[in-house]
Amino acid sequence: MKNVLSQKFLDELITFRKQLHRGPEIGFNVKKTADLISEMLSKAGLEVSRDIGTNGVVASLNRGSGVDPIGFRADMDALPIDEANNFAHASVHSGKFHGCGHDGHAAMLLGAALHLSRQENFEREIHFIFQPDEENGNGAIAMIDSGLFEDFKMDAVYGLHNLPGLNVGEFAIQSGAFCSFEDNFEIKIIGRGGHSSMPEKLIDPIVIGAKIVTDIQTIVSRTVSPSDHAVVSVTNFETDGARNVIASEVKITGDCRGFEAHISESIQSRMNAIVANNCASYDADFRFTYLTSFVPLLNSEAHTNLCAKVVDKISGACVRSDFGRVGFSEDFAQMLKVKPGAYILMGNGIDAANYSEPLHCPNYDFNDAAIRFGVEYWCAVANAEKVPLQSSLIPD
Ligand SMILES: [Zn+2]
Ligand SMILES: [Zn+2]
Repeated sequence: MKNVLSQKFLDELITFRKQLHRGPEIGFNVKKTADLISEMLSKAGLEVSRDIGTNGVVASLNRGSGVDPIGFRADMDALPIDEANNFAHASVHSGKFHGCGHDGHAAMLLGAALHLSRQENFEREIHFIFQPDEENGNGAIAMIDSGLFEDFKMDAVYGLHNLPGLNVGEFAIQSGAFCSFEDNFEIKIIGRGGHSSMPEKLIDPIVIGAKIVTDIQTIVSRTVSPSDHAVVSVTNFETDGARNVIASEVKITGDCRGFEAHISESIQSRMNAIVANNCASYDADFRFTYLTSFVPLLNSEAHTNLCAKVVDKISGACVRSDFGRVGFSEDFAQMLKVKPGAYILMGNGIDAANYSEPLHCPNYDFNDAAIRFGVEYWCAVANAEKVPLQSSLIPD
């Protein structure tokens, strides 16, 4: 089967990508985006299922004997920020912006579905998954809870994300932990506020909060080994004090990253002890909330090898073997907890304006020159041989 794509077809995908970029939607509210994608897929003769985990879409290409079915996943949601670009396809919705390239991801997966559906000799059951709310880390679970893997049979799932800083045509992948977990914490210290001239009659939550901020810096090194990758960051410190009023309450929020679930558990348990002990020593009350927003993303070794191998079949593409793990998080990790598979990064460019801007930067734009590589990648995985299940690492 040929994976060579005509310029006319690529131009249609670029036009579609720019249409999504102009009209971004965020979170679970991606109905118009899902409408546009579904319409194209239905017209091409794929079986389209809607409203999976609110606005998720699954388009099924039911070819072959049903042996070795797989799923490909793209995200559809934008970011809740203003775009700084002024080009013709800039966002027309203030406060909404495709700053992570999910417009490109959706266009590339759509392209692969259209291309494969037009290949008469293609024989495989593939489910093309378009998920909402990747950015908040809730869309994958919503689709899984709505029966994604019960209603659509898949032996493996694959994901892809663009990355500025990698050349167009360069891919990066690693087996095992590839993207970090993200935990978020909130520490509320409840003291007793009052006149700033009489602190001895009060319980000053700012003094306690300042100690807590300093103490949690020791979690990485004194609790989590310095040789394990982990980050604990305080990102906000709010009080209800005033110029001459000692505060009654302090709220400290922050974010933790790492690559293994046991590290997340260690950070949570040590942070809880630091908060409880500091508050107890000054007679303050507290409320401590610690939530995992994203689990670590674990690629199976066998599927990672398959993905790296198929990149070699794409003209002008290569896999960076020296790339290592990445510190950002990815909601697709939830799907990889249920099914084996692999997630790959694909270059968005390194030098041209916009394309080398980091993800989530107000000047970022998805690079349309990457569309060919993404579509050909999906088609190459679709045509790859089945991964022997016994050699795959199914994450627990
Ligand atoms: Zn993002
Ligand atoms: Zn993204």
